[in-house]
Amino acid sequence: KEFGIAQSLERLGIKSENLGTSTGTRWIDSEGQSFSSSSPADGELIGSVQATDKDGYERVISQAQIAFESWRLVPAPQRGEIVREIGNALREVKEDLGKLVSYEMGKSYQEGLGEVQEMIDICDFAVGLSRQLYGLTMHSERPGHRMYEQWHALGVVGIISAFNFPVAVWSWNSALAWVCGDVCVWKPSEKAPMSGIACQHIVGKIFAKHGLPEGISCLVNGDYKVGEMLSNDSRVPLVSATGSTRMGKLVGEAVGRRLGRSLLELGGNNAIIITPDADLDMAIRGALFGAVGTAGQRCTSTRRLIIHSKVFDEVKKRLALAYSKLVIGNPLDESNHVGPLIDKDAVDMYQNAIKKAESEGAIKVVEGGVLSGEGYESGCYVKPCIYEAENHFEIVQHETFAPILYLIKYEDLNEAIALQNGVPQGLSSAIMTTNMREAEAFLSVAGSDCGIANVNIGTSGAEIGGAFGGEKETGGGRESGSDAWKAYMRRQTNTINYSSELPLAQGIKFDI
Ligand code: NAD
Repeated sequence: KEFGIAQSLERLGIKSENLGTSTGTRWIDSEGQSFSSSSPADGELIGSVQATDKDGYERVISQAQIAFESWRLVPAPQRGEIVREIGNALREVKEDLGKLVSYEMGKSYQEGLGEVQEMIDICDFAVGLSRQLYGLTMHSERPGHRMYEQWHALGVVGIISAFNFPVAVWSWNSALAWVCGDVCVWKPSEKAPMSGIACQHIVGKIFAKHGLPEGISCLVNGDYKVGEMLSNDSRVPLVSATGSTRMGKLVGEAVGRRLGRSLLELGGNNAIIITPDADLDMAIRGALFGAVGTAGQRCTSTRRLIIHSKVFDEVKKRLALAYSKLVIGNPLDESNHVGPLIDKDAVDMYQNAIKKAESEGAIKVVEGGVLSGEGYESGCYVKPCIYEAENHFEIVQHETFAPILYLIKYEDLNEAIALQNGVPQGLSSAIMTTNMREAEAFLSVAGSDCGIANVNIGTSGAEIGGAFGGEKETGGGRESGSDAWKAYMRRQTNTINYSSELPLAQGIKFDI
């Protein structure tokens, strides 16, 4: 293994065989079947992980419930201090963890580092938040009464995460949940379990160092069956699930059946509108990065370009030229632009999507294909491709988690906005224009229907300071910044009567 991977794995506590169930520093030998994780970069085995069985899950949840009893009583700013230490510990392991994320998931090393930086940033955000869990006060309509609301910790938060952000999504949830006084049980993607195990080693130690109980940060591992344990468990008041819309519908239904709360962060089908007034240099850069970054495996990846007919041919030509210069290869080698897809199933999905697009009449602009030969032994490397297509094609309506970009032509802005909104998903959107009227129309209530709408920035990525998430089949959840923390707490409205009267509601009088 090149690029110092072996040393990074060792420093992160990853062995060839790993337990997958933990309440902090304690690792539980449950009887679940082991599964393996291999790198899409070189096809090599990273190691195996023991899945969590029913018994192991029960032990985790009961320990989490015990921990919640005391963790919720720790003053929020002190909880923030613990999260500050977690952020500092992440700073120390940034290179190793970034490398593991890159190696296990296939995103570039630079993106792996960026993902760990997001974890550090959300810890900083959460530290500040720990002193700002504000409620409102209201003026009571009754004399001698005071009304206010306060936010209390919720309990055990279940976190189900996707493979493509194997560590950041967990931290967006857990850093906030911890300062809110909750305890967390995380089920990482079965496609990137080592990243989860590494995080648990980092964080578990910090809670233990402060004499805090086991159970504040818990880890379970395995496939959807372990995820189902969380979504069906009424001891878990909130399940935050990130992944496909298919998964979100199942989790949302299961949690809804027991009237629990779910926070869903699901698939996107993100478009950039390029108007005749766009700065085309910026538009091309934004589109290129959005479409091929992380090999098209971001929930915010650009999947559709909605281009005005006046600039359509020029954009097409310049994009094709830019694509011809892309270097595809090992994500740990910083001279490469595009790494592999997560696994061979993803490669099959990519190939099927291309076939489907062609059968629906899409016109090839840049040819795709699976790469083979030296450096591509894992079988997971594909060529980013471009098709001219129509928005109503079934394949265009669908999120294919791969670097396939569809070009769609429009004539007027209202049509472009209708096309942009004309998909089942509603995560990220962008307009490239220097025309203020176009930009404001796009951001208006009659404009983009997405959770994220940008002007002169592509669709891909987001800053942790804003609330992150989307509408429609993207699930409606919001994570990370702004007031997303409220999802992790319960609101209580309090009325205090400091008068010597007890006025009854609606002027009702009891003469007793
Ligand atoms: P996936 O849906 O296959 O799996 C995601 C997680 O859900 C995994 O941990 C999996 O084990 C679990 N899971 C699957 N079925 C389940 C069930 N029935 N009950 C409980 N848990 C279940 O998704 P993936 O392939 O890992 O990730 C790619 C998808 O994630 C894309 O659609 C992408 O857009 C989406 N995503 C969304 C966001 C966002 O913030 N909106 C962020 C990252 C990824």
